[in-house]
Amino acid sequence: MPKLDPSSDEFRAAGHRLVDWIADYLDGVDRYEVLSRVKPGDIESRFAAAPGAKGKPYDALIAEFESKIVPGVTHWNHPAFFAYFSITGSQAGILAELLTAALNANGMLWKTSPSLTELEIVTLRWLRESLGLPNGLFGIINDTASINSFLALAAARDALGLDIRARGMTGRDLPPLKVYCSEHAHSSIEKGALALGFGADDVVQIPSDDAYRMKADALESAIARDRAAGALPCAVVATLGTTSTASVDPLPAIGAIARRQNLWVHVDAAYAGSATIEPSFRWLWKGIEHADSIVVNPHKWLFTPIDCSVLYTRKPAVLRNAFSLTETPAYLTMTDTAEINYMDYGLQLGRRFRALKLWMVMEHYGTERLCAVIRDHVGYAQQLAGELSKREDIELLAPQSFSVVVFRRIIRRDREVDEEGSERTTTELLERMNGSGRIFVSHTRLRGRFGIRVAIGNGATEWKHVARVLEFL
Ligand SMILES: *Cc1c(COP(=O)(O)O)cnc(C)c1O
Repeated sequence: MPKLDPSSDEFRAAGHRLVDWIADYLDGVDRYEVLSRVKPGDIESRFAAAPGAKGKPYDALIAEFESKIVPGVTHWNHPAFFAYFSITGSQAGILAELLTAALNANGMLWKTSPSLTELEIVTLRWLRESLGLPNGLFGIINDTASINSFLALAAARDALGLDIRARGMTGRDLPPLKVYCSEHAHSSIEKGALALGFGADDVVQIPSDDAYRMKADALESAIARDRAAGALPCAVVATLGTTSTASVDPLPAIGAIARRQNLWVHVDAAYAGSATIEPSFRWLWKGIEHADSIVVNPHKWLFTPIDCSVLYTRKPAVLRNAFSLTETPAYLTMTDTAEINYMDYGLQLGRRFRALKLWMVMEHYGTERLCAVIRDHVGYAQQLAGELSKREDIELLAPQSFSVVVFRRIIRRDREVDEEGSERTTTELLERMNGSGRIFVSHTRLRGRFGIRVAIGNGATEWKHVARVLEFL
């Protein structure tokens, strides 16, 4: 009888080789070009039309991985990766992923792997305390903030008490349901709302102030306008650390309005939330007592490999009501315990053992080291902003915030800024940076102005990597 893996001999040899490969990769990642320069289809064309009928030894596959696959990889582990929100697959996280794969546990129910559920409970309690979040929050790990914000909006919709779970949203007399967020909220809010049957027109984008923070008075008048028109306000999303500029919406004011108006408050702190492990950044949570749900991504700025996004909620019963099965199929019923079955708190049935990597990261590095690295990142961003603001030809497009810096190059004509010329020279600068292979930055548009956006978040980044930005000016 053929077995899939007749022995572990090949595995053992290849495994040792791969650990060495990974260590060499991490030590030498700066040798690679950050941004892959392959053309669309280049990688696809390197592979045969169908997989082989006969297997290949691991050595041959490792060689193919290096020659065919690595050239099309953009190196998120590169210390000069400053695009989007840079993330790190830390050594502790990589080792934990190896163990997760080895166990291949599926945590749909408590009993399908008690450690999976209970380590999730423990690590999320640790994380909550380490970030200075309030007591009494239920936590769950999902793959991304997008999914977690979707779950939060589902709970918000359920909390309206309109019996949507039983009766749905169509073929009945329902007012339009509204979700409010700032014009700088992440696109996942709109996507989540769409999936829940809100219309795109029902996701109301509230204008922001000079520092790209939601205007609370504009929120209040939008709610009043919608109520007058017969709509039903459902939820407001406050972003603490927006994607473009890391601006922070005024949660105390937003929360007070939401309380008066009986709205669910969802806090999207996917990026900046991790920074609050450092106590001096805890001001971020001002007003957090108003939040019904909060999302934080350890896979963004807490050195945990993607994917690991945490949803906290003060109202787990509402979330559970939105997602637990009315009648649990017999093969899923729990007779022996009353422990948490995480499948009841979200869309997925099967779930990976993601708490293992968060546990390994928190315990291996310890909170002091994590704080120190995050402080350094913010320090580098401040230093970069300081250097940039000394230059006549550079304009910071947003107040420097957390580890994000947004700037453009300006051209002046008769002392006036030449908008078109500035955009051209900034675009040219961006292309030169990203074409060099030495650095990868992204861009954004703020009040019509095109800017280069630098976000620092990689565990191996030093000032010398950040200083490369200045070399291109
Ligand atoms: C990155 C980001 C998201 C989306 O995160 P995913 O985990 O990739 O879905 C949502 N909100 C904010 C503020 C973000 O910065």
